[in-house]
Amino acid sequence: MTPDESALSPVYPAAGDRRLRDGAQLKFFYGPMDCGKSTLALQMDYNHARQGRRGLVLTRYDRSMGARVSSRIGLSREAIEVTDDLDLRDLVREQWRDGQRVDYLICDEACFYTVAQIEQLVDLVDVHDVDVYAFGLATDFRSELFPAARRLFELADEVTRLQVEVLCWCGREGQLNGRIVGGQLTREGEQVVIGDTAPDDGDTHYQVLCRRHYRAGDLGPRPVG
Ligand SMILES: [Zn+2]
Repeated sequence: MTPDESALSPVYPAAGDRRLRDGAQLKFFYGPMDCGKSTLALQMDYNHARQGRRGLVLTRYDRSMGARVSSRIGLSREAIEVTDDLDLRDLVREQWRDGQRVDYLICDEACFYTVAQIEQLVDLVDVHDVDVYAFGLATDFRSELFPAARRLFELADEVTRLQVEVLCWCGREGQLNGRIVGGQLTREGEQVVIGDTAPDDGDTHYQVLCRRHYRAGDLGPRPVG
């Protein structure tokens, strides 16, 4: 504030004044498989880019199994694949060293990042003023939080449950990701096993269920034929 401005506004802004809250934010959007997270991630990138901002798009274990964010409805964009040993702060600093602006990060499949990487995202927000928009599952096939999702719940400025509803076979809102192996719901195994929600996609796949049918292990009537 210049001396002139302080002369014009001798009163300090009250707590809660918007001027005190400006700055980058960490927002976490979560929901079950198929709820449109990657579609929203791509839309978010588009909206910000259109305003002249520059961002990076990151993902891990995208359904395309390549360095892309691809949405079920067909949108797709190349992305940076996050590996366990990638320091996300270094990633951004390298861009800056190359003279590239980074105003925001789109982090798809953030549930599969490490907890340390979530802390790195918080550093980018708080220290470097980079906005971070993270998208991912909250819970795994056992209905327990992914460690990275837990950290996002603990630290994010805003947490949003996505409103695009995925329905269980019974018509209730789908909430949990059931892992199906050999036609049966399973609650044991590795936390991360990549599979699609298409039943014919190998032996292991996923089915979004309401809590009632997840707990009962009831996958609904079998398709005929
Ligand atoms: Zn159900």
